[in-house]
Amino acid sequence: MSVSAPITQDVLTIPRKMAEGPLNLIGLTRPALAEALRAVGVPDKQVKMRVGQVWQWLYHWGVRDFGAMTNLSKDFRATLAENFTIALPEVVSRQVSSDGTRKYLVRIAGGHEVEVVYIPETDRGTLCVSSQVGCTLTCSFCHTGTQKLVRNLTAAEIVGQIMLARDDLGEWPQPGTGTGDSGPRLLSNVVLMGMGEPLYTFDNVRDAMKIAMDGEGIALSRRRITLSTSGVVPEIAKTAEEIGCLLAVSFHATTDEVRDKLVPINKRWNIETLLNALREYPKISNSERITFEYVMLKDVNDSDADARRLVRLISGIPAKINLIPFNEWPGAPYQRSDWARIEAFADIIYKAGYASPIRTPRGEDIMAACGQLKSATERARKSRAQIAAETGQV
Ligand code: SAH
Ligand code: SF4
Repeated sequence: MSVSAPITQDVLTIPRKMAEGPLNLIGLTRPALAEALRAVGVPDKQVKMRVGQVWQWLYHWGVRDFGAMTNLSKDFRATLAENFTIALPEVVSRQVSSDGTRKYLVRIAGGHEVEVVYIPETDRGTLCVSSQVGCTLTCSFCHTGTQKLVRNLTAAEIVGQIMLARDDLGEWPQPGTGTGDSGPRLLSNVVLMGMGEPLYTFDNVRDAMKIAMDGEGIALSRRRITLSTSGVVPEIAKTAEEIGCLLAVSFHATTDEVRDKLVPINKRWNIETLLNALREYPKISNSERITFEYVMLKDVNDSDADARRLVRLISGIPAKINLIPFNEWPGAPYQRSDWARIEAFADIIYKAGYASPIRTPRGEDIMAACGQLKSATERARKSRAQIAAETGQV
């Protein structure tokens, strides 16, 4: 499919299992990779070794060509090439903000697009990864929430976002050096805070993160991965047990009445149910604290009384409160709280003993800030439609 082909985002995609063609090795966990190699005739007693070798080529060296896997025999390389592919999502466009933030528009099978954002900071580099095309949830302040769900991303498409960012950053190790030998990593942290609700595609997110955490590959520590959820309560304990990464929760309100409106999943699992699940998380995952994300919406959830209620609600939970000044998007029904209000709110929380950083919006000039992921795609789509109309291709 050519890069300028029109995109249809509002149809359900046929699940990837049914896709034809060779199996993509990217996104397979170690046991799944072992199974795939067995299926092409690798004898049982060699499977573990072969998995280790192929894994290193894929995830340590970032190699995309079976021919380059030089410690494998020519015959075995040919068998691999006949039966498998090494496929990542395709980068359609890349924008760089004046503050260094990079936004990639990425095309996945079926022609759908998601956005991936890289945020460089002095001591780290964070990649904001998407888990779905669109979102089934309809949080009223979120631009992604206005877009229908098209489909869940596969594990390959999720870990593939990390891999393509490493490609762009030139961060695969060179022969003779280990991962991280050349100084601090450019891509040191991953946040599942892009498009979609990661806990609605749990298995794929888990498999992708397992691959990213594997010590013989990308080797990101589980403490450098943060999964953000709107509050899918039944999956929270599973996240602790099966992924063990840090957790952020889109809290955003201190009464059920307001949270029902802002984060409608609250009607299913209300504040109290959510807090009960969160209380257990640090113990099960052996992680320090939970991040409470709180979007600052003028006159909606930003009063002193809200700040005090928030502190009371989370008491007993090791927590940090991340205040996010609302990122406006065209047609948004809310406004960003005034700066003085945000600071006053932060102060109450801070005085109660919690870290209360105010998140600096990054990449605003390229619409890459939190919750804005959609409009650039929409704009691009519109302009493609326009081009098509102008050139008589419709
Ligand atoms: N679906 C997940 C993760 C993606 S959203 C979740 O909801 O947690 C990542 C964060 O950005 C969430 O806290 C979300 O509530 C917040 N967000 C969404 N739209 C926003 C906007 N317009 N301005 C500021 N933050 C926003
Ligand atoms: Fe979906 Fe998260 Fe946006 Fe809510 S805030 S609509 S859960 S992406």
